[in-house]
Amino acid sequence: MSSQLVEQVRHAGVVGAGGAGFPTHAKIGAKADVVLANGAECEPLLHTDQVILERHPREVLEGLRLVVQATGASHGILVTKKVYAHTVAVLQQHLPAFPEIRLELLDNFYPAGDEQVLLYEATGRITPEGGIPIQVGAVVSNVGTLANVAAAAQGEPVVRRYVTMVGEVARPGVYEVPVGTQFRDLLAFAGGTSLPEFAILAGGPMMGSLAADEDEPVTKTSGGFFVLRKDHPLIASRQVKAETDIKRSMSACCQCRMCTDLCPRNNLGHRIEPHLWMRAVKYGQDLAAEQITQAHLCCLCGVCEVYSCPQGLSPRRVAAELKSRMWKAKIANPFRNRPDAVNPERGYRKVAKHRLLHRLGLVPYDVEMPFRGTFDDVDRVVLKLKQHVGAPASALVAVGDNVTVGQRIADMRDGALGAPIHASISGRVAKVDDRAIVIRRV
Ligand code: SF4
Ligand code: SF4
Repeated sequence: MSSQLVEQVRHAGVVGAGGAGFPTHAKIGAKADVVLANGAECEPLLHTDQVILERHPREVLEGLRLVVQATGASHGILVTKKVYAHTVAVLQQHLPAFPEIRLELLDNFYPAGDEQVLLYEATGRITPEGGIPIQVGAVVSNVGTLANVAAAAQGEPVVRRYVTMVGEVARPGVYEVPVGTQFRDLLAFAGGTSLPEFAILAGGPMMGSLAADEDEPVTKTSGGFFVLRKDHPLIASRQVKAETDIKRSMSACCQCRMCTDLCPRNNLGHRIEPHLWMRAVKYGQDLAAEQITQAHLCCLCGVCEVYSCPQGLSPRRVAAELKSRMWKAKIANPFRNRPDAVNPERGYRKVAKHRLLHRLGLVPYDVEMPFRGTFDDVDRVVLKLKQHVGAPASALVAVGDNVTVGQRIADMRDGALGAPIHASISGRVAKVDDRAIVIRRV
């Protein structure tokens, strides 16, 4: 059963839908004693997971049951937020058919959906520094991933994706579209924008990245797109370079420690103290110094950047830069402690969603975000060959080939970590390069 499901999931191209993109077959092949379904939606304005839970409760629960069985776990926990009252009511109707699964409801704080935070909240288990949940016997999977696992067991590959469209759009909400749908088509489905010029954050306001242009395609890991005016402070902050933070820290960092005190990973008991690397970089400390190598423990959640720092500095951006420099210098993470307790003040240091949105100036965008429908009618999809952790997939088709929806069009070579890609619409292959396969409807 276990190896059969692993193979079905691999063939279907299932990867972590919560944003990480880790190939799911590699995750569910492990032995665990508990499996968690992550439906706590990390990003504060996205409602993708909520809609998946409301529209596909049985599929999510069935996917969770299958992974519980495959990993040999004793039980599963479906974790979502108390504030999703309707979602919880829907789930409770289905739970009696899944006696090995219980529901766990979290407060509405950021980053509730971070897998290490979620694991601690639901089970009291603390992931080791620089580690992953399986080291404490747990597998954590996004609810969209689990719905895809249930579909994979029925032979259905991943060809569609739920995406939240939020911000300056006429009809904010959650849309179901073929993987590879380009942002410009999504924007049309969402009624367009009244802004003559705008910026696009692929992902949410906290961890999303600036999209280059309207050609940006939906991938298996896309949770949403956030449309904002180009001069919004959130967009401006995304354009600041780490070098600027490092220079500014020399005069502006007052070592108040707020970045450290509110850091979600520090509060889980990990030895991460961003105020120390902010001090160390300004004095040109060696890359191998302990205060710098701590940056390996940063999950880039952004609490320090958008919420904690009174001086507008970004320990997150500096951490990303330090990680990149350490990677080039082959300096590995030396921190491997297994904390047995979290910070006793952790409970008071969680960042409530409403306070975060006020701080970001995003309250006007916190509106009803209903499911708006399935929009299959796109003329063109751009299927990236790397939508997952690992190597890019290799194309199995050439320009001019006719393909049908669900057909495998790219796969991994020689057992490399990754996942195959399937055609998300029927049509003709219009372009193949080392980055993507383009299919046009004919
Ligand atoms: S919160 Fe800002 S000013 Fe305070 S220690 Fe951290 S980087 Fe420095
Ligand atoms: S981004 Fe900032 S708050 Fe988040 S883990 Fe890294 S240092 Fe901590």
